[in-house]
Amino acid sequence: MSDAIGGGCHCGAVRYEAAGEPGFSAHCQCADCRKFSGSAHKSFMMMPAGGFTVTGQVSAYDYAGGSGAVITHHFCPACGSGLFSKHAGVTGAVFLYASGLDDPERFRPTMAVYTKSAPSWDHLDPALTTHEEGSRKR
Ligand SMILES: [Zn+2]
Ligand SMILES: [Zn+2]
Repeated sequence: MSDAIGGGCHCGAVRYEAAGEPGFSAHCQCADCRKFSGSAHKSFMMMPAGGFTVTGQVSAYDYAGGSGAVITHHFCPACGSGLFSKHAGVTGAVFLYASGLDDPERFRPTMAVYTKSAPSWDHLDPALTTHEEGSRKR
């Protein structure tokens, strides 16, 4: 369980490694994540920033998340693959997108958030804990 989680973008210019245990793993069905994902939700796992290393050039884009705090979406400037985000209100963590993992089975989702924004056709595992909005208290 302690071996690092590797991943990267589609073109290979950006690679990353994340060490440590995931804080939580979730699908987010908010409208922002729908835009970034290219589908109906984004899937991500919270990893400790201290164990996270990136090689290659990464572009960043800031937006206001559901709680109002700034979220910085990071992506490959060459191929556009979304890679991870950082949240202004959550220091010490990176939110790694499951889409970039070398082994997608390393992602083990336990919850779905912003389910109130889900399109009718985006069916998730009914065993997941669901939150109509975000899961964190302010
Ligand atoms: Zn790329
Ligand atoms: Zn979202």
